[in-house]
Amino acid sequence: MPNGTSAIWTADFIIYQKQAKKVLPKVSIENQIYLPLIEFLQMLDLPYSESVSAGSVNISVGKSTIKLAKDRAIVQVNEATVGLLAPVVVAADRWLVSPDFVNKVLNRVLPEKIVIGSSGSRFLIGPGSFNRFEVKAVAGPQRSTIVIQMTAPVEVEVRRGESKVTLAFGNTPIDSSKEDYQYKDELVNSITFEDSPTATQLVVQFADKALQSKVTRLSSQNVYLLEVTRQASATTSEPEDIIPQPGVVGITQNRRKWHHITIDAGHGGTDRGALIKQNLFEKDVTLVIAKKLRWVLQSTVGVDIALTRVTDQALSLEERAQAANSAPSDLFLSIHVGNWSHPNESNSYVYVSKVAPLEDSTTEKKEDESEKLASIRFVPWERAQLKFLDSSSSLAEILQGEMNHTLNGGNYSLTFRHAPLKLLSSLAMPAVLLEIGNASQPQFKDRINDPQFQNSVAMTIVTALEKFRSLHERP
Ligand SMILES: [Zn+2]
Repeated sequence: MPNGTSAIWTADFIIYQKQAKKVLPKVSIENQIYLPLIEFLQMLDLPYSESVSAGSVNISVGKSTIKLAKDRAIVQVNEATVGLLAPVVVAADRWLVSPDFVNKVLNRVLPEKIVIGSSGSRFLIGPGSFNRFEVKAVAGPQRSTIVIQMTAPVEVEVRRGESKVTLAFGNTPIDSSKEDYQYKDELVNSITFEDSPTATQLVVQFADKALQSKVTRLSSQNVYLLEVTRQASATTSEPEDIIPQPGVVGITQNRRKWHHITIDAGHGGTDRGALIKQNLFEKDVTLVIAKKLRWVLQSTVGVDIALTRVTDQALSLEERAQAANSAPSDLFLSIHVGNWSHPNESNSYVYVSKVAPLEDSTTEKKEDESEKLASIRFVPWERAQLKFLDSSSSLAEILQGEMNHTLNGGNYSLTFRHAPLKLLSSLAMPAVLLEIGNASQPQFKDRINDPQFQNSVAMTIVTALEKFRSLHERP
């Protein structure tokens, strides 16, 4: 390529090295992107000799030698030759190579390979790996939820500006497959990833200034949820950290669209549950809350909501489970009122089934659809929950976090609990049981009977389900 060809300087190459972030200009010549070679070699501390007049660069990597020649796309690596996407050029006295040089040539001989980001513009030199993130957005009528899934834990600084929220990642090597997620809905104008010498950040632009936002961190899953809402809601200036639970893993399991949710009002008929006050029992309150919840869910989530009972009726645990399993339901929530002998405590908790793993796990791993059906049929009844423990725990973590926020006075140290509950263990779907408050606490007896409080219980569950849904449901 003749000298004097116009070189255009576009966005930068970002190089992460030893906790620091460096930048090299991306040079574009006739629609081909080039990497400044000498500067890159200097970052790598590789000895080289170059001569523009002779038209060659020689690089030493340990005992290996790399030879490049001007205007040639063929590079000599020891005895071998490697073809690059574009010829090596000299423009404005600068040696330029196509970026595939890093992977095809340098990574062939370097003892420690350079990690290349998915866009091809980010390089990680030395030990470590990129924290890759995936961004997914779910739009609703009053709320858009943006899910940022990372591959490793990272500290994120949340900055709120006018009509936007910025999640800043410091100098952590972050890799995003896209710079612009090309996303737009009624509430969100754009989602862009900015990687510059001074900042690594995800910027979410809102449709207008009046929108509210809330950031929630799900530590155990390396997930940040950014909710953008039209209505004023309880907002916090810092991310709410939902306490990590050991043993909660991936969120990819069982993702599909929701069709059906079963809400179980605890107890009923002769099984009255805890006594709250004269002529008022747990079974009465759970039914009221279940009906309120159904009403709100039907108008927000827009899927079938079934109650295990709609009247004061006795039901066995098997009947409750069977109703949900045969629907089949995508989610199961059982509502109870707590009742324990600590008159000072009235916190609400979420319970997840405690199931011992199967001895022969190979029968659980069949992926073929027909075998999957068969295996569901033959999974011992009391072990149906086993496959859904991860998603149940994920739901419980989100729900406990919401309850800590609204029902437990902001006590975020409370975590969900595991219990060997027969009802939950036989359910083949994400399933949790809620113990609301404490029926033996005198003040709570009034509270649980207050329609306002019952509404806030229902709204808390709905908020949690919307978050869980955005994690688990395919768009
Ligand atoms: Zn109960």
